[in-house]
Amino acid sequence: MPSPYLNRLENVTKVAVRTAMSDATKQLRQRSDCEVSPESNPTNITVSFDSSWKTRGFYSNIGFGAVISTDTKKVLDYEITSSLCEKCSVWTEDKQKYRPAEYEKWLERLRPNCNQNYTGSSQSMEPEIAKRIWGRP
Ligand SMILES: [Zn+2]
Repeated sequence: MPSPYLNRLENVTKVAVRTAMSDATKQLRQRSDCEVSPESNPTNITVSFDSSWKTRGFYSNIGFGAVISTDTKKVLDYEITSSLCEKCSVWTEDKQKYRPAEYEKWLERLRPNCNQNYTGSSQSMEPEIAKRIWGRP
């Protein structure tokens, strides 16, 4: 079971990262040459996108991708994909089969915090990450 302190640290870190990315976007919006779309997103900016994996060799279960402003060099958005979840892996098929009620109860509690957000090959993580980032409203 993950430590409650780790969960708090993760939540605080997420807030800090979102704030930093929001500030980076605001900084771009304030530029005189930045066009702002009706959705208030900066549209006349140049960005780079790159991704990586936790491990080499096209077998990684965790991928990461980020969009970075080429002008400010600041991260504007990112996405992490994971094809596994350590929290869920403690429930083997046998354990699920022999204790289904307990498993369902546990799953209901965990579901919002499950780390698995991707099914597919590690090679297809990069286009999926880009799709998710550019698909955001
Ligand atoms: Zn999980």
